[in-house]
Amino acid sequence: MRQKASQPWLALGMSRATWYRLGKPQTKPERPMTQPLRARLMNVSLRSLQRGERVTRSAPGLADQVAAGALKVGRAERLLFSPTFEEMRQKAVNETPQRRSSGGMAIVRLTHIDGKLPNLALMKIAAEHRRRGDSVVFTKHVERSMFEPTYDRVYGSAVFAYDHSLARVATLKREFPNAVVGGTHNLANPTTVEAVLGNEETAPLDYSIYPAFDASIGFTQRGCRLKCGFCVVPKKEGKNRSAATIAEIWRGPPHAKHLHLLDNDFFGQPRDQWEARVDEIRAGGFRVCFNQGINVRMVDDASAKALASIRYTDDSFTRRRLYTAWDSLGDEERFFDGVATLERYGVPASHVMAYMLVGYDRRETWERVLYRFKTMAALGIRPFPMVYGDRRRKLPLGGASQRLAHRTLGDFQRWAVRRAYVVAPFEDYDVNAKGAASSS
Ligand code: SF4
Repeated sequence: MRQKASQPWLALGMSRATWYRLGKPQTKPERPMTQPLRARLMNVSLRSLQRGERVTRSAPGLADQVAAGALKVGRAERLLFSPTFEEMRQKAVNETPQRRSSGGMAIVRLTHIDGKLPNLALMKIAAEHRRRGDSVVFTKHVERSMFEPTYDRVYGSAVFAYDHSLARVATLKREFPNAVVGGTHNLANPTTVEAVLGNEETAPLDYSIYPAFDASIGFTQRGCRLKCGFCVVPKKEGKNRSAATIAEIWRGPPHAKHLHLLDNDFFGQPRDQWEARVDEIRAGGFRVCFNQGINVRMVDDASAKALASIRYTDDSFTRRRLYTAWDSLGDEERFFDGVATLERYGVPASHVMAYMLVGYDRRETWERVLYRFKTMAALGIRPFPMVYGDRRRKLPLGGASQRLAHRTLGDFQRWAVRRAYVVAPFEDYDVNAKGAASSS
């Protein structure tokens, strides 16, 4: 006891040297929060914590995206050192005084509800709100997280009318009852993002909300020559017209010469315009993904020749792929005439992926659906079913096997998309099997 009174450092559980170094404290100082300790408390690895802190110090905007789950911390850290990011950061730094001086900055939430491609409408909204000096939070989460602020505006965009997308739309609306939710998931809603924002079709895009995306995205034209009953494009976009040149869509170096053209009817714009776009694509050495598909029913010699002269690819820009659609059995002749024209000019059927709408036509039966599917597959075309409405719906058999009586449209889509047809006919398909054949 006597020893402890004369040696107070022992009572505090520290060495004499430490006690003196800390200025003879009366009580034991709290242990400093070291990085390893913080990592343990946060239940992350030390490496992840260090990466996260580096990203937070250097780029709070990227850190927000990591917190929102839109970006992995490793990817965010790599982006910090990319020249593109440095360019974007300089731009943001230059904009800051303008934002501050505008006063009354709003906080805006942008919610990417579905689709693997960047959402053009959200990019436009982000650009417009940043122009107004607002703060933009981008996320793919439809649920509100406990750390989220109160937003002045909440936007969401969903492209697909699948159950999963619609459920996510419903969740977003429940969490944020005033959310403005657009996109082609709602075929009855022809409102455009330009109408909501009050700006032009050619308004700028903010690519920084998708920092990992290096291609460029846009429309060379709007509208469509046809009027399919299930499609919102004619109502939303009206008559066919040119919208932008390739030079206006491409972001320029150092970005890849990869273009996602969202045109619904590329060859529907005036001929001198599409020819000029094809010349630009060819001269610039671009790879082009026509995500929305080209209208094969209206392909003629000139457009087939033009297509054969450019590098059309899938959406990863690695494989030759030309997207199109065969939605109605009644279009059989026109569809295969178009495919034959393409082949004559050097676009083989094996490069073609054809979306096939199923469940829309009231006369649809399994026999009719499988006829469309098999006729395309026999030619080497890759069919890709798109389900209209409820995926759990069953179809009348027509002349098809009784064994399909309990099959759903969702089962059919899974069988086709996973290329299970390579190993088993639809009748024999085990709906619970993972069953993916090669994706090539
Ligand atoms: S061709 Fe395509 S874009 Fe045009 S109306 Fe039909 S589905 Fe819509």
